[in-house]
Amino acid sequence: MARREQIYVRVGISLIIGICFYSITDLAATITWVTGYIAFQLAEYVLFRPITAVTPLTPLKQIAGLAVMTTSNIGFASYGLLESSHGGTAGLVCACLLWSGAILNGAIVSGESKTVLACSIVPPLLHFFSVPYFVIENGGTLGSGLAIVLGGMLNGVGAISIWATSRRLMDNAAREREISRLALLDAESGLPSRHAVLSRVAELRKVSGDEIVVVAAIAIDRFVHLRGAIGHALMIELVIGLADRLAKIYPDAPFARLSNGVLGLAFTARDIDEAKSVTCRLQRAMTEPVQLRDNKVDVSVTIGLSVPDDAIASPAEVSILDRAMIAVDQARSARQSVALFDGRAYGSPGSNLSLMSEMLRAFDNGQMSVHYQPKISLRSNHIVGVEALVRWAHPERGALRPDLFVRMAEETGHIGALTEWVLRRALDDQRTLHRAGHDLCMSVNWSALVINDVQITDMALKLVEKAAGDVCLEITETAIIGNPDLARQTLDRLRAAGIKISIDDYGAGLSSLAYLKNIPADELKIDRAFVMNMANDPVDAVLVRSAVSLAHSLGLRSVAEGVENKGTLELLYAMGCDLAQGYGITMPMPLGELMTYLGRRQRKAG
Ligand code: C2E
Ligand code: CA
Ligand code: CA
Repeated sequence: MARREQIYVRVGISLIIGICFYSITDLAATITWVTGYIAFQLAEYVLFRPITAVTPLTPLKQIAGLAVMTTSNIGFASYGLLESSHGGTAGLVCACLLWSGAILNGAIVSGESKTVLACSIVPPLLHFFSVPYFVIENGGTLGSGLAIVLGGMLNGVGAISIWATSRRLMDNAAREREISRLALLDAESGLPSRHAVLSRVAELRKVSGDEIVVVAAIAIDRFVHLRGAIGHALMIELVIGLADRLAKIYPDAPFARLSNGVLGLAFTARDIDEAKSVTCRLQRAMTEPVQLRDNKVDVSVTIGLSVPDDAIASPAEVSILDRAMIAVDQARSARQSVALFDGRAYGSPGSNLSLMSEMLRAFDNGQMSVHYQPKISLRSNHIVGVEALVRWAHPERGALRPDLFVRMAEETGHIGALTEWVLRRALDDQRTLHRAGHDLCMSVNWSALVINDVQITDMALKLVEKAAGDVCLEITETAIIGNPDLARQTLDRLRAAGIKISIDDYGAGLSSLAYLKNIPADELKIDRAFVMNMANDPVDAVLVRSAVSLAHSLGLRSVAEGVENKGTLELLYAMGCDLAQGYGITMPMPLGELMTYLGRRQRKAG
């Protein structure tokens, strides 16, 4: 019952009782009674306004209300009984007035306690039923007695209905509170949800002053594989364990579970540099092994950062949390462990939607091209092949990273068209190179999504028939996982036609030996994440060394990509690595430049 309706009920009941009252008394007494009674009801309503709100009264207010009401009840009752026993009208007025106490009681208890309700209603009720006795005893009519009883009953019904309404309101309020509490919690883990952290981010921004609010999305690497290995229940424990760690390191910073394997943390920092150093600390803490029941599990995380300012470069509907999550993807595709959201590279969902149709047009309008990055033999120092890397010079967005549109092409079913276009162009260019006297193995990236596409395989086989030299397809290990039997068949078909297979990004994915043994391949390409720093990082160096010897023991040639300096080149040579590729040797370049470069090298050698 709304507050306004409550007033109507109170006034309505007062008037009905007034009419009953009129039947036993005169008009003047009735007007006095009705006016007094309504005034009493209204005063009571105003006085106990909070009762009609959904918040329960504090215990102190309940006790105070109960004390006032009980005293007035007893006072009215005693006086009423005394008066009516002498046949006086005033006694009846008091008796009727007593019932407003019941309404008050009903409201005060507010559904908190049925006992209190009973205690507050029963005494006046008993008193009320005794009124007719006194009326009759003192010569009143039966009708007078019944009219008073009826008035009292109405008053009682009003009291109970107000009590019930208050209770319902409070139940609803409690339910709403519970629903909002649950909305702020992740059902599976009981950790705060993204809504919780979003509202805290808004609060933080209000009080952050000169500092910036930073959101870090902390994503567990290889989540799906890890979950496959340890099971869903343990995975949840792992997430909770990491969240506990976060809460210990930054007790006041709001954190949440943003999605299955991603935790979010909001904090303030003086500037981006400070935010980055906080992130490095965070990353170190997160990569400590987690104790799960009897086992220790090693985890690594990739962290994406977003600050409110980077929203300028992206649409407002992408929240700061989403931007941090996108930054995780950006970090992963750039092979970094931490990245700040790059709005320019991300573009906007609207423009990304049209990107694919633009891509199809870009094949014909000269915006799309292929650059070639040489692979050199560490033993002979000769360039033995090149990797074809697609490039898109977008008229508005500048040079687009292949990671962005290759992934999008995969997601939107356009990867077949992209793959075919690159392969055709690469084979054309290989013929041009051949005519110029450069016989190079042409490596083309082969997305995991096209490996099981029979039409694309047929297309590749047909095109490669006319190739001017060796062709190598670079696939990632994950390409095999979805449907290992079919992938194997496809690879066997490709290899039977003389196409070489390279396992790309080795070390970045699952790197399961069982899979590796089952992939019919010719080459193992060690991921650049390990190669780039191996000259300074002994752990990376050990990993590269073991990858080289693993390749050899499986009968594969080893290729290190991401060779950025001479020191790395020397180390790789000492390790017996076969081929190397990287900015330290040559950057990827267009065909024209490649021809010049190859010619220059040839002249030098000759
Ligand atoms: P990827 O196959 O691992 O290609 C090697 C990437 O490493 C290239 O980035 C290359 O420019 C970069 N790189 C080469 N040397 C160095 C170095 O010394 N240091 C560093 N930090 N990076 C180096 P790019 O061209 O941006 O390509 C990124 C990814 O996009 C490729 O990774 C590949 O997965 C995909 N991609 C590129 N072209 C194609 C394509 O034609 N088809 C498909 N399906 N994917 C492609
Ligand atoms: Ca590659
Ligand atoms: Ca690679």
